[in-house]
Amino acid sequence: MNQAPNPPDSRASVSDAQYLLGVEISGRGQRAVVSDPYGAIIGQAQSIDSSAPADVVVDTVDDLVQQAIINADVPLESISGAGVAFGGPVDAERGLTLLSHRAPGFENYPLVNLLEERFNIPTVIENDARAAALGEAMYGAARGSRDVVYIHLGTGVGAGIIVDGSFVRGVSGTAGEIGHMVITPDGPQCSCGKPGHLEAYAAGPSIITRYRAALEQAGCEGPGRGERDRTLTVQMIFRDAARNDSVARTVVQETVQVLGIAVANLVTVLSPGVVVFGGWVSEAGPALIESVSSRLRQYSYPATARRVRITRASLGPDANVIGAVALARQSLQADS
Ligand SMILES: [Zn+2]
Repeated sequence: MNQAPNPPDSRASVSDAQYLLGVEISGRGQRAVVSDPYGAIIGQAQSIDSSAPADVVVDTVDDLVQQAIINADVPLESISGAGVAFGGPVDAERGLTLLSHRAPGFENYPLVNLLEERFNIPTVIENDARAAALGEAMYGAARGSRDVVYIHLGTGVGAGIIVDGSFVRGVSGTAGEIGHMVITPDGPQCSCGKPGHLEAYAAGPSIITRYRAALEQAGCEGPGRGERDRTLTVQMIFRDAARNDSVARTVVQETVQVLGIAVANLVTVLSPGVVVFGGWVSEAGPALIESVSSRLRQYSYPATARRVRITRASLGPDANVIGAVALARQSLQADS
């Protein structure tokens, strides 16, 4: 069942007395927060072990939730609902995780049931990019829009898509996996094993890999070698590009170009009211989003381009976990 995100002015339908639980399980590890109904975090706890198997993650989340509740200083009974933002495909209706690329044991794993057994709190789950899209639509940069595309640029590339207030999931639950859109069929190999996908160009690790390859090709002995090479970050590449370093500039321009093309095509197909860019790569250089936005407007269908607002995520590193809170709130409102 697809559920519509609530319009941002619908606060009255959730009691002020209700607190919500948000859980993030992603490449950054696990995090649990207790939030008030308006998305303000009042207690939290986190673990940075992103490769733990599913059964261990359930125990960790159990500990984190208990710590977050203690930190929030609210009774467990005052928490009305919980949401989980999971970094991988899920079966939201059945409450299952389907797969994790980072850790074993998440194949068809009944995460929602297991957490409900432990806490006795109604729990819902969603892919993290979709959760972040809902978080931005309910509490963040896309408030007021029912047609939202949230683009995550981080260790991977993905999107959460909301059309006319409903999540787009697809029959496989993988709709929105824009990191696997084809840019060029003979391009670099993607994390999924296929060649030339967007993620192989625009994910953080891919940008670094492409930069190193470009240095090799240019025969450079300068920036990027020795000690600096071991600590190379995406931020450094963007900074060097801004300083007119020719290799960095070429890599950044190619990144902006492929992102501009991919997101322009997505915008032309979906005609969202708002495109929100989030994830740590989107914060790597001040010019990245501006450059991608201008290409996006340049390349997409004119009538569509005129109606779309392009913005940065406003929830920052909290996007996934506040997205999980938003899932919980949406679920409670749908039930009431
Ligand atoms: Zn791929």
